[in-house]
Amino acid sequence: MRDWPVWTLRRPALCYWLIIDIVALAIVTYVIISTPTPSPSDIGRFAAIAGTAGAVIIGSSIYSHRLGETERNPWAAHLSYLTAGGLALPPNLLVLLLFGPALHCLLAQRPETHRWLFTLSSTTIAVFATRYLIGWSKPHVSLLVLVLAGAILLTLRAALIACGLKLRRPTASFEENVGEPIDVILGIVAVSIGGLMGCVAESNAVHALIAGPSLALLDRAAQLPQWRRSAQRDAKTGLANAVHWDSRARYELNKASSRTRPVAVMLLDLDHFKKVNDEVGHLAGDAALAAISLLLRGTVRRGDLVGRFGGEEFVVLLPEATPEEAESVAERVRKAVASLRVPTMATDGKPHELRGLTVSIGVATTTRFGYELPDLLVAADAALLAAKAYGRNLVSMA
Ligand code: GH3
Ligand code: MG
Ligand code: MG
Repeated sequence: MRDWPVWTLRRPALCYWLIIDIVALAIVTYVIISTPTPSPSDIGRFAAIAGTAGAVIIGSSIYSHRLGETERNPWAAHLSYLTAGGLALPPNLLVLLLFGPALHCLLAQRPETHRWLFTLSSTTIAVFATRYLIGWSKPHVSLLVLVLAGAILLTLRAALIACGLKLRRPTASFEENVGEPIDVILGIVAVSIGGLMGCVAESNAVHALIAGPSLALLDRAAQLPQWRRSAQRDAKTGLANAVHWDSRARYELNKASSRTRPVAVMLLDLDHFKKVNDEVGHLAGDAALAAISLLLRGTVRRGDLVGRFGGEEFVVLLPEATPEEAESVAERVRKAVASLRVPTMATDGKPHELRGLTVSIGVATTTRFGYELPDLLVAADAALLAAKAYGRNLVSMA
């Protein structure tokens, strides 16, 4: 228990996450104790909703596993049938539906179980708060209620989760905490399908089956953001890959050009990196690349765009950076790399601490080279070659 990753959370985040988990547990306990035994027709509706959702999610998980998808987002589908249950089931059967995401966590063996639990608890609070507002024992279903219920459920859930993520990492961007526009659309589609499923199940339980195909499509669509993110990311370092960095950099340069704001480009190449591979092994080399990527992200300014240019070369776009600012960021990175220590494993299987890594950096700015990306990259590359020629572990301004 002492080595649970949850204890690595910052103290405010830990307190908040635990409070959310405890509140959710208290709600579930209250619901189980206070709700009367469900009628046979309630149980029939539960079976239809849980059966349809279960079949879709299990089928989709098997398909996803066969495709080798490692990162999967099943929350859109979970939200959908929870909405249906929120409209058509008594609260204690709604609690049983929450076993869906709980079971999913157990079977998928997520590395961050505490994060999953926190999301589940936030969802539980949002689901029951919505239920309370639309009618605890029997919701009054109408179009207006459906729209309001969907809006409350999504907003409250997003707010509870976003607060937790912000406390966990105060530097995280709004998008990281709240999600991208596609996540919002997926949420709206999920509650819409769930709303329809709940309405048809109200009149005849078996009619809930009709939501199956839409739910299956929603579950597939929910993987789109993951696919896009993995297509934009470099797998080894987690940084933007060269193609994605290029398009983001061009966009930022266009924006800066129309407002005549300064931008800088920084090109980095690790010094004598081939020696690391030759002497300690390629796996140690990979660990060094990953550690340097993490360090780079933490050392540049917020809003700077870090990418893997190729091999052991990195590239950073620094919007709103004057030449002086760019040089000071580059110096900061150079010093941070020089004092980095990377715990790795040598080829003989023994632990080995890599140290003494250094980097050479070339910097070009729009003030001298204009807003065309190729011109800036050529200039930064020439400066980088100069830094190598002057002896390495240096910053050179083009
Ligand atoms: P310098 O740049 O200082 O001139 O010397 P260097 O040894 O770093 O030379 P160069 O940049 O030409 O070589 C890059 C080396 O980086 C070659 C290759 O073995 C290594 N490398 C490139 N990509 C990877 C990778 O993904 N993993 C590992 N382990 N090594 C890589
Ligand atoms: Mg190189
Ligand atoms: Mg090199």
